[in-house]
Amino acid sequence: MTKQTHSFQAEVAQLLHLVTHSLYSNQEIFLRELISNASDACDKLRFEALHDASLYGDQPNLEVRVSFDKAAKTLTITDTGIGMNEQEAIDNLGTIAKSGTKAFMEKLSGDQKADSQLIGQFGVGFYSGFIVADKITVETRRAGAPASEGVRWVSGGTGDFQIEQIERAQRGTSIILHLRDDAQEFLNGYKLKQVISKYSDHISLPILMEKEEWKESEKEGEPGQMVKTGEWETVNKASALWTRPKKDITEEQYQEFYKAISHDFENPLTWSHNRVEGNTEYTQLLYIPAKAPFDLYQRDKHAGIKLYVKRVFIMDDAEALMPQYLRFVKGVIDSADLPLNVSRELLQESRDVRLIRDGSAKRVLSMLEDLARHDKHEAAAEGADGVQDVVSEEDKAKEGKFTQFYSEFGAVLKEGLGEDFGNKERIAKLLRFATTTHEGLNTSFADYKARMKEGQDAIYYITADNLAAAKNSPQLEVFKKKGIEVLLMTDRVDEWALNYLHDFDGTPLQSVAKGAVDLGKLQNEEEKKAAEEAAEAFKPVLAKLKDALKDRAEDVRATSRLVDSPACLVVSDGDMSLQLARLLKQAGQ
Ligand code: ADP
Ligand code: MG
Repeated sequence: MTKQTHSFQAEVAQLLHLVTHSLYSNQEIFLRELISNASDACDKLRFEALHDASLYGDQPNLEVRVSFDKAAKTLTITDTGIGMNEQEAIDNLGTIAKSGTKAFMEKLSGDQKADSQLIGQFGVGFYSGFIVADKITVETRRAGAPASEGVRWVSGGTGDFQIEQIERAQRGTSIILHLRDDAQEFLNGYKLKQVISKYSDHISLPILMEKEEWKESEKEGEPGQMVKTGEWETVNKASALWTRPKKDITEEQYQEFYKAISHDFENPLTWSHNRVEGNTEYTQLLYIPAKAPFDLYQRDKHAGIKLYVKRVFIMDDAEALMPQYLRFVKGVIDSADLPLNVSRELLQESRDVRLIRDGSAKRVLSMLEDLARHDKHEAAAEGADGVQDVVSEEDKAKEGKFTQFYSEFGAVLKEGLGEDFGNKERIAKLLRFATTTHEGLNTSFADYKARMKEGQDAIYYITADNLAAAKNSPQLEVFKKKGIEVLLMTDRVDEWALNYLHDFDGTPLQSVAKGAVDLGKLQNEEEKKAAEEAAEAFKPVLAKLKDALKDRAEDVRATSRLVDSPACLVVSDGDMSLQLARLLKQAGQ
């Protein structure tokens, strides 16, 4: 095969332009991305070799080597992973297969810092090499292919790349970065070790670098220098983070691990790391992100859980391990009981997986409950005796986090009412709403109940497209007049979700837009009598209206719910609400 030139897919070319022209703020992340690809490649080989051990050939080691050549100004990352054949190199390094790319391009703001964060989120890691290199050479050979079927891929990071066949003795991939003048600091063993330990300690493969030692110059007066010794040493901890005891892991290591698996640049809100023993044994390390990803509502977007079996990576996005409504959770689950060759189909049916999913959902809810408990310390800190409780630093650090969580993920959490009946009550306790008397998304059902009027025996709520529409709804008039608080629900999912929640802690939920609002004991005898008299007096008018509207309205009634407005629409108790009907209509149903 001779050398062939291929053009990059348009999106890649655009991306490369961005990478080379605007991403200097956090140069060193390229190393994290390339080492993480090397590690993925080794994971893939280990997985394929479960069925075909011959793929290892005469090289049983899975490892990553990082080396540099000062004279040539190159930095090379070599792995003994799965490698790529020619077509794979063309596809994987010339296009972006992920559906999110378009969305990514649309989101670019021109602001360096924000854009560089997006790059991580969208997993376009390989191209980050061009932050520090003006040319990248990739030499690779797929596991199982003969030495003559090596591939060399070369690009200067502009419109195209060349590809040719080469001899390559070893399976796996070498990424050779020809460093720009402003990135020469990476031609330094100390610097590289520092970056590797920052980003890659948790990687379970050994990352090796050649040992160097100081050598005095032979000539008098000239400075000495570091010289390579030919001996290689492991420079990362090389043990999967979640397998280490909690006490040996620092906060920073937990955070870096989160960033590595989630492609997020921000620290997570909180995390939980446990070894679960019992019917099925597994380790879970689960994180709650601080920000919602752009595709939280995309249907095909799966949970961010990586599945390992006895430390062997099995699959990404193992959606069977986390219910849909907790799809924002990121992390790792490592099972001791599942077979290594478990497939997605098998996962769906496995009893162990069901137990793991239940356990994981409960763990996430506990994390959220913990955040909710610590959300408002000012309120809670003063005990009944008027003495300030001592608030630990740890508790303090959790203040405000639940509010932040809820504004990002509250609407998704509500889906749980319809999806996870077993945990419905726990989910309901975590929900927060704005109300007619308390602005801000911070009234829980329990808060509401504590403020209910004497004689009030239902939790009243209204659903609408937005807060203004909810607040100004004529259906609220009588509630305003009587000073009864009403929950204002404005998420698209509310209507659907509330179909599954009939009461909270024994108190029924009542939509103010459904049926006849029975204010029960909240109405005094006089008011009741007045209402009955009015109904009597209006009978002839109602009969006429009913007749005139007979094809369009099921019933016409006198009501005590209005104060200023002459009339309003309501639906019967069992019917779909107006809001839901509008939604379905929008969705074309
Ligand atoms: P991602 O890792 O999120 O898939 P990248 O841009 O980092 O995206 O890598 C693109 C693709 O290139 C990878 O999915 C993989 O198929 C291929 N690739 C990159 N580096 C290697 C490597 N060292 N060995 C084998 N394949 C690789
Ligand atoms: Mg990658």
